[in-house]
Amino acid sequence: MSNVRERIREKKRIVVKIGSSSLTHNETGDMDYIRMEKLVRELSNIRNQGKEVVLVTSGAIAAGKNAVNLKDIRVDSQAESLAVKQACAAVGQARLMMTYQKLFAEYNQVAAQILMTKNTIVDNLNRYNAHNTFSELLKMGVIPVVNENDTVATYEIEIGDNDTLSAIVAAMVGADLLILLSDIDGLYTDDPRKNPNAQFIEQVDALTEDLIGMGKATTGSNVGTGGMNTKLVAAEIAMKSNMDMIIANSRDIGVLHRILAGEKEGTLFAAGQDDNFDLPEFVKGLHMK
Ligand code: GLU
Repeated sequence: MSNVRERIREKKRIVVKIGSSSLTHNETGDMDYIRMEKLVRELSNIRNQGKEVVLVTSGAIAAGKNAVNLKDIRVDSQAESLAVKQACAAVGQARLMMTYQKLFAEYNQVAAQILMTKNTIVDNLNRYNAHNTFSELLKMGVIPVVNENDTVATYEIEIGDNDTLSAIVAAMVGADLLILLSDIDGLYTDDPRKNPNAQFIEQVDALTEDLIGMGKATTGSNVGTGGMNTKLVAAEIAMKSNMDMIIANSRDIGVLHRILAGEKEGTLFAAGQDDNFDLPEFVKGLHMK
């Protein structure tokens, strides 16, 4: 196992995903600027080590709701129409990006915004263009900041959650590590909030049916759309694309540099290889919510 952690230190192209619940205050739903600031500082420091970084960030809908005083409406509420959600995303994505731009500029980094839908991957020309754009940005030393294009993504064309989106992005750009920052320490044998005997799993070498069953234990958050299920979908994409993936707790953003120093943080899903894995086909077949 130590071998796998050792090789984490050599990673060169890293995708980091952070969820809405990690970026907002529980009590109010407002942006947690200290957390964002720490995230940006960590990512800038990774860039300064000569590594390439892509950030996949949620929080657009949450930020937009707060801005227009709709924060009491849950993302999954029946009462909320698609148009309201999409309008909030339009407001919130701009705010989110404004904050990231400001923070990255303080650390002398250039950030770029990329908004995607399922079509970006499924359509061959779109995927080709997106791939080239990412490659160019990384070559320029820019940090791409990615989210789903929630303002236009409807049921038919949405990926639906950013765990899956981050793995898709990581596979498309040929990243060698994906880190999912969440409000949970990693994968447990059961939901640790309900079962005190639930055991923490440090490393996963193969996704068995048993493990997928354990994933049914979801996070306690009602802000983002991900749970352990979507993280296991991400793990499947990552492992089949020959990429290591780590789920870690965003409580302390400093976990990022500890992970990259090879420390045992979170659950590590070790890269596998599946020569038959076809990313666009997989994305086309993604379960639509
Ligand atoms: N794309 C959504 C947002 O920015 C969040 C999706 C997710 O939480 O997985 O608000």
